[in-house]
Amino acid sequence: MPEEFFETLSNHATPPVYRFFNGKEWVESASGKTVEIHSPIDDSVVGALQVVTIVEIDAVMTSAKTGQAKWEATPLNQRVKIMHLAADWIRHFEEYLSTLLAKEIGKSMGEAKSEIVRTADLIDYYADEVQSMRGETLDSDNFPGYDKGRIGLIERVAWGTVLAIAPFNYPVNLTASKLAPALLMGNAVVFKPPTQGGISALHLAQAFLKAGVPEGALTCVTGTGSDIGDYLVSHPGIDCITFTGNSDTGEAIAKKAGMKTLVFECGGNNPALVLPDADMNLTAREIIKGAFSYAGQRCTAIKYVLGMPDTLASLQTVIMKQMPELVHMGDPRSPETKLVGPVVSIAAAEHIQSLIGETVKAGAKIITGGRRTNAFVEPTILSDVRPEMPAVREEVFGPVVSFITVKDIGEAVGIINASRFGLQASVFTQDEGAGIVVAKQLNVGTVQINGSPQRGPDHFPFLGVKRSGLGVQGVHYSLEEMSRLRPIVINKPR
Ligand code: NAP
Repeated sequence: MPEEFFETLSNHATPPVYRFFNGKEWVESASGKTVEIHSPIDDSVVGALQVVTIVEIDAVMTSAKTGQAKWEATPLNQRVKIMHLAADWIRHFEEYLSTLLAKEIGKSMGEAKSEIVRTADLIDYYADEVQSMRGETLDSDNFPGYDKGRIGLIERVAWGTVLAIAPFNYPVNLTASKLAPALLMGNAVVFKPPTQGGISALHLAQAFLKAGVPEGALTCVTGTGSDIGDYLVSHPGIDCITFTGNSDTGEAIAKKAGMKTLVFECGGNNPALVLPDADMNLTAREIIKGAFSYAGQRCTAIKYVLGMPDTLASLQTVIMKQMPELVHMGDPRSPETKLVGPVVSIAAAEHIQSLIGETVKAGAKIITGGRRTNAFVEPTILSDVRPEMPAVREEVFGPVVSFITVKDIGEAVGIINASRFGLQASVFTQDEGAGIVVAKQLNVGTVQINGSPQRGPDHFPFLGVKRSGLGVQGVHYSLEEMSRLRPIVINKPR
């Protein structure tokens, strides 16, 4: 029963106040300070998270340090079993967790369920993949001037204590994508969930704990980034920070963290470049899906479309024809709603609306959408946009896509490469060879040919350049990022 499994997480008051996990048990903070979480769908209260104190954070760090040493000494085959069990628990509670997630962050039930199932599959894949991680031996005489006098034994070991910070938009999946590789590689994890989405994320953490992650190896500290973020990221007990969130937050964390290993997934702001020979039906469908799924609140959402005048004109006609069939804004729990529910909060919706307004003021035109009711922003297409306008300069984390007309492909490549962001880009063309030629000129993490940007499949490398990230994710790569090399050199007596 989910009620029993998750019983210790909250005090069961109305609204429930969720506890933090100190390494041993779910407890109430001495701070007495809480933050209420409201559903973006109807503003109802989902629950409250506590703001932990500095003293409590210090105690968590001590618990992590002791726990880490024991956890790393636990045989890998046991760590693997625990991860598989956590994945099984998540699958077992799919309906319960999806319902909670849908309510807390305004995802449709379909999107919420796919996040839960993908999370369980991801944890299993990590647990399988970790068993193929190998050390190596190196001989010294390969390098000029050396004889066979040295042998290098190169092992992979844990960093120590990893601080994991997840965002609101995939609070379950992007928590698991941090916890599983860090734990499998033998680290202790101090987990700071997002505030919105934090209740779902704490439920995920419980699956790991109930599966057998032992004392101190996993702790969960709650509180807003502004309340506890600086103290956490600059804490000397932390060896590595794995973070997903906004580029501004990432930059602020990097400045405060000091000499810690940083693995960051930050803002996207992804372009789609449409070549004249593109299949317009496919391109329109991918752009609509890419721009408006989960109301555009995905780091891999398409934010702007580039093409020559005739290409953009025909694309726009096809998009407008397909929109009524593919997009319907509404309550994400309703089966009639397609792609666009609310954005995460009324404040976020107001911000999106102000970016649309500023872009229009700067000379852009609204093709469709542009209005807002509470947290619901209409799916919006802007034309006559230039790269320096707010809707392209900033990452608009909502259902807004801008059309930029270019004179040729070279200009489009220049615009994409001049962006401060560099997560992914799409190129649409029926000539895959031409797509590859363009792809090789783009300074972004990944180029998708004839598809919208996306993270999956989760074992592919996933990375951002410039303000979009540091390091590489994707199952094998994340396991590597969550560990370091430890060379031991045997010097033979001469
Ligand atoms: P956010 O506002 O930057 O928050 C992300 C996380 O950082 C939250 O847990 C937040 O806590 C915490 N945080 C905020 N200030 C902090 C500080 N000073 N120190 C430490 N932690 C702090 O981002 P978001 O709005 O949740 O997520 C959306 C952003 O994430 C978008 O920009 C999106 O593109 C990006 N994203 C990127 C990827 C990727 O793979 N590249 C994937 C998903 C999302 P609170 O919630 O308590 O403020």
